Amino acid sequence: MKTKLKEKIKIKAVHDDDLTSFLLKLGLLEDIKNSRLKCSFCDCVITLDNFGGVYKEKTELKPFCKKPVCYLEVLKRKSEVKQGS
Ligand SMILES: [Zn+2]
Repeated sequence: MKTKLKEKIKIKAVHDDDLTSFLLKLGLLEDIKNSRLKCSFCDCVITLDNFGGVYKEKTELKPFCKKPVCYLEVLKRKSEVKQGS
């Protein structure tokens, strides 16, 4: 079910193996390693363990953590963006 949703709204989600290279590509790896990256919703510090993914809002990349509540927020935002455009 999750996979289906991800495809639908194009959230970038990755497996743990690819995580560091993925984060490096986004330029977020350093921030995560230095505990400077925070979840866009619950404001917790994102680590490699609780990184949930990123979504794009306009041109900004918004990271979010693994908590289901934050994931649901992403889904809400994404549908809002889609409807507004
Ligand atoms: Zn969160």
